[in-house]
Amino acid sequence: MPFTSLGLSAELLRAIADQGYSEPTPIQIKAIPVVLEGRDILAGAQTGTGKTAGFALPLLQRLNDRPGVGARRVLRALILTPTRELAAQVEESVRTYGKHLPLKSTVIFGGVGFEQQAGALRRGVDILVATPGRLLDHVEQKTIDLSKIEILVLDEADRMLDMGFIRDIKRILALLPKKRQNLLFSATFSDEIKQLADGLLNTPVLIEVARRNTAAELVSQVVHPVDRARKRELLSSLISMNKWQQVLVFVRTKHGANRLAEQLEKDGISTTAIHGNKSQGARTKALADFKKGAVRVLVATDIAARGLDIDQLPHVVNYELPNVPEDYVHRIGRTGRAGSEGEALSLVCVDERDYLRDIERLLHREIPKVVVPRFEPNPNIKAEPITQGRRQSPGARPQGARPQQRGRGPATQSRPQVPVAAAPPGQKSRTQHGRDAPAASDGARRGPGHGASGPARHHAERSYGRKRP
Ligand code: AMP
Repeated sequence: MPFTSLGLSAELLRAIADQGYSEPTPIQIKAIPVVLEGRDILAGAQTGTGKTAGFALPLLQRLNDRPGVGARRVLRALILTPTRELAAQVEESVRTYGKHLPLKSTVIFGGVGFEQQAGALRRGVDILVATPGRLLDHVEQKTIDLSKIEILVLDEADRMLDMGFIRDIKRILALLPKKRQNLLFSATFSDEIKQLADGLLNTPVLIEVARRNTAAELVSQVVHPVDRARKRELLSSLISMNKWQQVLVFVRTKHGANRLAEQLEKDGISTTAIHGNKSQGARTKALADFKKGAVRVLVATDIAARGLDIDQLPHVVNYELPNVPEDYVHRIGRTGRAGSEGEALSLVCVDERDYLRDIERLLHREIPKVVVPRFEPNPNIKAEPITQGRRQSPGARPQGARPQQRGRGPATQSRPQVPVAAAPPGQKSRTQHGRDAPAASDGARRGPGHGASGPARHHAERSYGRKRP
């Protein structure tokens, strides 16, 4: 189906052509006409499916078709995202797709200057992309007026709830006009999302597209079993031997990210790290350097990598498997994007057997195991417990016992979050909570009662509560 049959204006079609997109993705085919009609939508789609254009294109068209009243530019569309990186990328997309239209957008998130953002808002914008915490800062400082919002987008709503933003979101919703169009995007549908959707959406059209883990045939996956102490050596060797030029490497911890980046640099492989402890400027620079090929390897933690949009990333390496199986799916979704083929490799040591089993369970398939010659695992090495990637002192926990991760209490470990494709709204599912402290997200304003429930919430509060930038 060509883009021309979706009802988009000539200016938008021109911007799409400028991007080199030949045809719409499934989420775009489903979402664009419905959003153009003014309907609310509840869309199950992950990053990598083209969802941003799915809401940004019709949003731009609707705003342009019905110019605001009065001479002054007023804020008419609000797009909320969980992380700074995603906010920046979404706003860049809005600009790209709207470049032939007389609409203005800006982005606000924590960790960078407030005044400049206030200035941009004062000068007037039509579309705002924001993370919830900093948006509320502007509300408190009265530097923003949300009373004329016509269209609200909640992007990656599940992540926003996972990160404890529910109360912030509710506060923001209360400031918006009652009559408006609402577009909710979520990769998963937990009960919390269902509840949010029930209170927010007005007879929504339900849109679902295949998750990347059901479309995982685009991404070839392999596990390289290896001893824990030889992972770095194997990674260096794979990068050098295969002459990989752009590799995204996932680790579980910020500390691990820094350490690996240093080690790879010592091996002569240009590397940078991106994680929640880095300043916004440092993270933006790391990402830009990686995108333009100035560094070959970007080492990232899960939260920091959320929403990274790097076109046609050929290689993703799980240097350490995530303790939350769904993160594996998010990670490998960084490659094989928008139809291109990609490769996801996991370096798995004996400690990570349980993690691998959980991932394979979620995927409903085994991932092929390939031992790399010279890196055969030593069968005499015994499993040791993992705590956020650092080995514990012997005896701290019974050998082989499933570690209790921050943000993932024992009660939650055995019930994997159900992917959209497998769990329509209303069906029970669950969310995951607090991992890498989200300096990558906007400041968490969590007090008691925020975010998730039960022990996971406790963890989320503890790990996020003090991090407000
Ligand atoms: P998203 O899921 O919105 O993060 O988009 C993932 C990637 O797909 C981005 O790099 C977009 O530029 C790209 N993209 C979006 N729509 C299309 C399309 N119709 N054809 C090709 N690439 C697209």
